[in-house]
Amino acid sequence: MLLRIGFDDTDHYKGGCTTYLCSLIVERLEKKATFLDYPHLIRLNPNIPFKTRGNAAVALKVECEDPEDVVDLVWNVISENYSGKGKADPSLVAIKGEVPEEVKCLSMRALHEFLPLSYVARVLKKVNVEQRFIKRGRGLVGAAAAIGFLESDFIDFTYELLTYRNPEFWGKPRRVEYESIEVMDRALRPYVFANIDYKKKRPLILSHGPDPVIYGIRGDFPSLLVEAMKMIKVYEPIDRWIIFKTNQCTGVHLFMRKKIPVIRPYDSLTVRGIIVQSPIVIKGGHVLVKISDGEKTIDCVFYKKTRLNVIATLIKPGDLIEVSGGVKPRRRGLTLNVEEVKIIQQVIVVEKKPPVCPICGTKMKSKGKNLYRCRRCKYSAEFVDFEIRHRNLPKYPLKQAPSAYRHLTKPREREGLESFIKKGVLIERWHYP
Ligand SMILES: [Zn+2]
Repeated sequence: MLLRIGFDDTDHYKGGCTTYLCSLIVERLEKKATFLDYPHLIRLNPNIPFKTRGNAAVALKVECEDPEDVVDLVWNVISENYSGKGKADPSLVAIKGEVPEEVKCLSMRALHEFLPLSYVARVLKKVNVEQRFIKRGRGLVGAAAAIGFLESDFIDFTYELLTYRNPEFWGKPRRVEYESIEVMDRALRPYVFANIDYKKKRPLILSHGPDPVIYGIRGDFPSLLVEAMKMIKVYEPIDRWIIFKTNQCTGVHLFMRKKIPVIRPYDSLTVRGIIVQSPIVIKGGHVLVKISDGEKTIDCVFYKKTRLNVIATLIKPGDLIEVSGGVKPRRRGLTLNVEEVKIIQQVIVVEKKPPVCPICGTKMKSKGKNLYRCRRCKYSAEFVDFEIRHRNLPKYPLKQAPSAYRHLTKPREREGLESFIKKGVLIERWHYP
């Protein structure tokens, strides 16, 4: 029987994490079920304020004889690893057979909007899927969304290989040789991506903090990720590793488009509008731009860390732009924190141009409104001349700096690679142990 299990918000007190738990589950489940796909690691709306860290949920797709037994096993591993000390509400959703359309719809909405738990619980009850949870079951949203996501109509996906530390190293600094990451990246790119911020010479693959992850390598082909792992030098044992199929690096969180009047808090989306006032540089070097779609306006903030603040200061009233990012409620109304911007149309800027002296040919100096005077021969005249200033702002989409990337951001180097047809079959060794 075909069985899908999603889980989320598992305990991360003292550094557990949902993907680590998944690797423990896969190891134990292998004897009882056949995996039909890599575990799905699904990142949900990154703009939700009370999300689990990284807002990731995991789903498994297996063929098994005794689904109850399999669900019990998964729930047991989740419960065994629940300390009760963190804020987590571990939750599990199990679906036998095909995924109901309602659940696919939840997946898409959980990526772009804020979905209340009560609403999700109601939908799950209606379609009669199994739910198990601790406390309020806040993880149900992610658990359900993870199951439906790659079954819905989004076709793009990538892979991530995650390596984990032996518990005795948890909390200690990670010692990975930077040069080996660079060698790996140069050898395998563009089929692996978002490994290094070359401008800052900083690896992006390393995890930080107390969680058990050493590093994660992202790419379009599972077998290349295994090769990449072999090339990276780590000065501690790799306790376990596993490959996930994921929606990371696809930019899918910015697919939703809305008109400004219907935008809601915490939406992730793309909006098109005309600049209605000159950009304002605010405290911290961030830049505020107001756009209108003819019906309503919204403030867009270009944060300094995204390095998009520079282009934002060059935008002029009248320009037509497309901005993508997350919507936050602020005192003065909703604002969009920009992750990507595309300048669709630039207004023509005409500037007054000082005339050339008709007598001696020198450039004349302005002496007040429309009055010009030649410095050399003192000839003066009232005169107006204009010239068109060429702006040449880039027409391609501009993305935030790699150090500000979110898990879902499609890195620049992956543009175009999404059209690869990937077989998506399991390679022989996709996890250890
Ligand atoms: Zn002159």
